Amino acid sequence: QPVSADGPIADYLSDLHFRISRLGGGNVASYIPELAKADPNLCGIAIATTDGKIYAVGDADHAFTIQSVSKPFVYGYALARYGRETVLQRVGVEPTGEAFNSIVLDDKHNRPFNPMVNAGAIAVAETIRGKSDDERVANMLDLFSRLAGRQLDIDEAVFRSERDTGHRNRAIAYMMLNTGMIRRPPEEILDIYFRQCAVKVTCVDLAVMGATLANKGINPLTGQRALPEEYIPDILTVMNSCGMYNYAGQWSYEVGIPAKSGVAGSIMAAIPGQIGIAVFSPPIDEHGNSVRGVAACREIAHDFGLHVFKTS
Ligand code: GLN
Repeated sequence: QPVSADGPIADYLSDLHFRISRLGGGNVASYIPELAKADPNLCGIAIATTDGKIYAVGDADHAFTIQSVSKPFVYGYALARYGRETVLQRVGVEPTGEAFNSIVLDDKHNRPFNPMVNAGAIAVAETIRGKSDDERVANMLDLFSRLAGRQLDIDEAVFRSERDTGHRNRAIAYMMLNTGMIRRPPEEILDIYFRQCAVKVTCVDLAVMGATLANKGINPLTGQRALPEEYIPDILTVMNSCGMYNYAGQWSYEVGIPAKSGVAGSIMAAIPGQIGIAVFSPPIDEHGNSVRGVAACREIAHDFGLHVFKTS
């Protein structure tokens, strides 16, 4: 992907990076043992525009696993495959106010609260087409590769590490088997879910994926459609209300842009018709959001006037 190094946006980003990369606080995620090896000093920021320009600073080309930033995209895939009504029977659109990995379903419908928490994402992962693990992996990678505009792969070490230790997600999957929210064998669904979380991306990739959402589902670099335009508002709405987990309310209040975070330390945001933003820095706070990522997005949203409800 061609990155623009000059101009006011590039200058702005290097200033921002200089300040943000020096911030302390947070800890690298360690509940997935392989993630604990991440260098806490890494810090990259990238912006991609809907007309195909990319601006990037710091460690924007460093590869990490996408983790929960995968969730909005697979939700879009499920909507495209089965439509709103069917998907709504398996996953709601209510924020939980609870941790991303909480073992809870809404007690009216017995379904996961929303597709941005693990329970909802695991339910949604069942919709990935394929008769074998290999076919499902190929289809899942095809989705992410279209979104990023280049062929993406899985970080096998992170995948195995989470598969071997992700018993909390196993508990969630079995609870949903019990309520009929998933129908296929939990291990089969967890296999694709853990692999989806272990897709290797860079900040530049995530910025392009955000720009694809901002561009009505068409990747601005390749011109290829990755998701149907019809479901982009669904994706952005749940990102807005649930993307930052139990920090989502404060995030909307202060930053006011639809975004999604992942425990490897990334945050991706999308501003419809304008840009995708991505920040990567491994230390995360108590909600599971990158400390430097939150700080950088807060500044970008303020400086570019991006808060959806702030008009001046
Ligand atoms: N793979 C991680 C999990 O299921 C994703 C969580 C996250 O990024 N918040 O726990």
